[in-house]
Amino acid sequence: MGGSATTTDRLKLTGASIGLAALVAGCFWLIAHSFIAQANRQQLNDLLQAAVIRLERQIDLAVMSLGELGAQGPYGCSPAVSRAIEDIAFRSVSIREIRVSSPSATCWADNDHEQIFQAAMGASDPVPSINHAYELAPIEAGEWKGLMVQWTTEDGSLTAFLATEGLLFDILPGELRDHALMEMVLSDQRVVSSYAPEGAAGLVGDFSEFGKASERYPISVRLMIDQAAVASWNRSFGSNIIAIAGLVSLGLGYLGARGLTRPLTPLRQLDDALSRGYIHPVYQPLFCLSTGRMTGFELLARWTKPDGSSISPAVFIPLAEESGRIDRLTFALLDRAGAEIGDMLRRNETLKLSFNVTPDQLLGSGFVESLSSRIGKAGFNPKQLVIEITERQPISDFEAALRVSRELAKLGIRLAIDDAGTGHNGLSSLHALQAHYLKIDKYFVDGVALDRKSAVLVEALISLASQFGMEVVAEGIETEEQRIKLLDLGIQEGQGYLYAKPLPASDLIARVEQGAKQMPKAA
Ligand code: C2E
Ligand code: CA
Ligand code: CA
Repeated sequence: MGGSATTTDRLKLTGASIGLAALVAGCFWLIAHSFIAQANRQQLNDLLQAAVIRLERQIDLAVMSLGELGAQGPYGCSPAVSRAIEDIAFRSVSIREIRVSSPSATCWADNDHEQIFQAAMGASDPVPSINHAYELAPIEAGEWKGLMVQWTTEDGSLTAFLATEGLLFDILPGELRDHALMEMVLSDQRVVSSYAPEGAAGLVGDFSEFGKASERYPISVRLMIDQAAVASWNRSFGSNIIAIAGLVSLGLGYLGARGLTRPLTPLRQLDDALSRGYIHPVYQPLFCLSTGRMTGFELLARWTKPDGSSISPAVFIPLAEESGRIDRLTFALLDRAGAEIGDMLRRNETLKLSFNVTPDQLLGSGFVESLSSRIGKAGFNPKQLVIEITERQPISDFEAALRVSRELAKLGIRLAIDDAGTGHNGLSSLHALQAHYLKIDKYFVDGVALDRKSAVLVEALISLASQFGMEVVAEGIETEEQRIKLLDLGIQEGQGYLYAKPLPASDLIARVEQGAKQMPKAA
């Protein structure tokens, strides 16, 4: 009797184990598949993001080239203007045509195109960008299809016609390319260009739609893709992802079993980090590109958790901004910097300390007063301070920005336009901020020694800076080739991993004391 009871129990137990195992396997399978589908969606989104960046880079080129032409004013058909227009149209592959127009004259780079482009422009109905002075429209002029970028000023208008076909064709991986349709669409849904290979006829079945909009221009990239093609791409992702998903679900199960309490919300974590001092400064040195002498450093925020892991500023700075904690964060960093490197800065009067301030923060009420009292407390000489204002976010009120800029100048604090060339503000920010430095974004420095287009963009920025009497600084210099190329282009100062990564205060002080001898020598 006893024996048979044990057998039944064993059978029950085995049955339960098999059931449990099947349940767990089923859960794994489901989790793994949703994980893969999610990973695929993420990958498609990343590809679209790459397409958007590529498109933005073309528009940036047009905007800067027009800025360069505009700065030469007055608009007309003088030989100098004609030469400048031809030069810009000639050195850029994507700018097919340029038009400069004032009440007294209208000039084109290539007069052969003039009539059909003029007619197409008349019907173009352009859409304004965040900065309303810049407008975009799809253009069809005879055989030619592309994007019109128009900048309207008090003196007239400057227009560039960009070839956009070809921008999308190599974005998708080969196995998806024949089952997809990609389109570049304006915010009013007009299609600027599209990429639809012959095989995309298969799109009549079930398809999924993805889209990514530019945050800087009223344009987006849209992808329609055959669901069957994405599903088989899912499978080709392979067993390692399933294994990872299995491990992840096991891990989650384990954590769940341990009955972990609900994690703090990101905002609670941020408050906790601010009050416990987990957010702290690091300093990335700036150097003279020809002598290798250190010229200053940029203060960058770091969030290091007690377990040594860190959270990127790309995550917590936007969180601090949106939740109204950015002033607290900036001032806490300045206080810490004052304690850590204040003495060293006072001993080295030629070194400058740059720190980042967002445009909204700059325009926030009482910012200059609070800042001035904080830097007094931290013991900084305002003449050694530079505030970096990013171009990535729009300046909501240019007149207010000019007032703040003047107040800061009275204190002796200088301004830098950060991430130059990537923003919405264009020339207006140069006028409004009356900044001392123009800091060219890593995005352009990356390509400067590789492709002509990046070099042209950097040249355009340098020429703009010189017209406004600004000094140019390059950021994100990683190679010796980039350093040499930037020097050739006339840039004297920069920062980047070639020289130094952001350093803790003790390492920075050691390097200052060594006299920064470790630098690459002048070319
Ligand atoms: P940013 O102001 O453009 O700072 C430069 C970023 O590029 C820093 O990233 C720096 O570590 C990185 N970097 C510098 N040289 C190189 C290089 O040669 N190669 C590569 N790959 N990267 C390089 P980080 O520290 O992650 O900061 C990212 C952004 O977060 C900053 O960009 C800035 O916009 C923002 N940020 C950081 N600290 C603060 C802050 O205290 N206040 C505000 N408002 N923004 C901050
Ligand atoms: Ca910066
Ligand atoms: Ca940057």
